[in-house]
Amino acid sequence: MMMTQTDMSDLKDAIVVQVEATLEDVQTLYRQIHQHPELPFEEHETSKRLATALETLGYEVTRGVGGTGVVALLRNGEGPTVMLRGDMDALPIKEDTGLEFASTRTAETESGTVPLMHACGHDLHSSCVVGAAAVMARLKEQWSGTLMLICQPAEEIFGGAKAMLDDGLYVRFARPDVILGQHNMPALAGTIGHRPGSTMAACTNLAVTIHGVGGHGSMPAQAVDPVVIAAHAVTRLQNIVSREVPPEETVVVTVGKLQAGTQANIIPHSAELEINIRSFDNALHRQVMEAIERIIRAECEAGRSPRPRSSAYSTRLSPYITTRKRSSGCAGLTASTSVRPTSTPCRASTAARTSRFSATPRTAASAARIFPMFTGLSGRPLQSAGPRPLASASRRKCATWRCPTRLTTSRATRSRCAPASRPWWPEH
Ligand SMILES: [Zn+2]
Repeated sequence: MMMTQTDMSDLKDAIVVQVEATLEDVQTLYRQIHQHPELPFEEHETSKRLATALETLGYEVTRGVGGTGVVALLRNGEGPTVMLRGDMDALPIKEDTGLEFASTRTAETESGTVPLMHACGHDLHSSCVVGAAAVMARLKEQWSGTLMLICQPAEEIFGGAKAMLDDGLYVRFARPDVILGQHNMPALAGTIGHRPGSTMAACTNLAVTIHGVGGHGSMPAQAVDPVVIAAHAVTRLQNIVSREVPPEETVVVTVGKLQAGTQANIIPHSAELEINIRSFDNALHRQVMEAIERIIRAECEAGRSPRPRSSAYSTRLSPYITTRKRSSGCAGLTASTSVRPTSTPCRASTAARTSRFSATPRTAASAARIFPMFTGLSGRPLQSAGPRPLASASRRKCATWRCPTRLTTSRATRSRCAPASRPWWPEH
C-alpha cells in the first residue's frame, strides 16, 4: 500500500505520541541497568530485566541464546523481518559521574576485584531496544512483518554476536532482511549519524606474552628483561599506522594493556600486552596484523628473548581474518576478532539517505573530522559551507580533517584549508 504524505505525517505524529508515552518507563529501565552493570557473558540480571520487559509487551521471548542473549519476536503478518540489536555488557571502569544512579558495583575476575560501569552506553542501547519494542507493539496496526529484537551479550570482548549465531540465531528464530544496530557516541546531541557502507570498524584484540628470563634487579646481565622488550615493542607499534598504512586509510592500533612484574627490584619472567586493532578493510587488517607480529618477533629477538618450546598464534571466531595457526617465535599471541553487525553494509542506511541530517555546518564539520562516519546526504563527510579560515598560531596542525600538515608558512600563504571532502593531501 502506497502511503501519501498525509499518511506519513499522521504516522510520524502517532510515533511521537507513543515515544513520549514510553519515555519514562525506558528512562527507569535505563537507570536500573546503568546502576547494575555486569561484565561480558555475565549479564544475568540485565538480560532477565530486559526479557521480562519484552514479555510484558507481548513479545515471544527466548532467554539464554548464546549465553545470556535474549531474542524477542513479534510476528505481525506478512512482510519482511527486521532485526533490532542492542548490547548489554559493561566495562571494568570505576564510575565517577556523581549521578544519583551511578554504579557502585564490583566484580571478581582473574585479576582481582574490578569496579564496573556502563561507560560505553550499552545500558542505553538495550533500554532503547525495549522502547522501540513498546512503540512497535502499540502501533501494530500500522505495519506488517516480523520484528526480531536481540539483546546481545559480550560486545566488549567481541564474543557475544558469534555466540548467538553459533546458538542458531538465524536458524531457530528468523533470518532478518534488515538488521539495525546502533552505538551512541559523544557527538552532537539529538542527531543520528548514518552513511551507506561501513560505519563502524572491524576490530581485533591480540593478547601477547613476551617471555624473558626473570632475575634480581641488581643483576640485569643475567636476566632477560621482558619489560624493556615490551616497552620497545609498544613504541615501535606506533609506527605501523604512521609509516605503513596509506594516509587515506583509517586504522587504529592501540596497546590498551601492558602488565609485568610485581616490585621494583625483580626482573619479571614475562610481560603481557593487549593490543586493539581497528580498520575498515580486510587486506589492510591482515597487513597490520602481520606488521604487529613482525615487530614483536623482531623486538623479542633484539632483546634476547628465549623462545618457548611451543606457543600459539591463532585467531578465533573470524570470518574477517582467515583462521590460521602458526608457531610464534619468542612471543605467544592469541587473537579474537569481532563480528559486529554494524560493520556490514546496511540496506536501511542506504534507504535513509533522503532523510535530513540536522547538524549545523560548522559543528557538523567538527564532527566529521572526529568521526568520519558522520556524513552528509551525498555520503561524503560533512563539511562547513566554505573553506575554513585558519587560526593564527604560526606552527599548528592543519585543521582540515585528517590533514597531517604542520603549518609553518606565513599567514598570507596559508590563508585557507582544503575542504574536508577533498583527498587528504593539503593544497598549501
Ligand atoms: Zn560499546
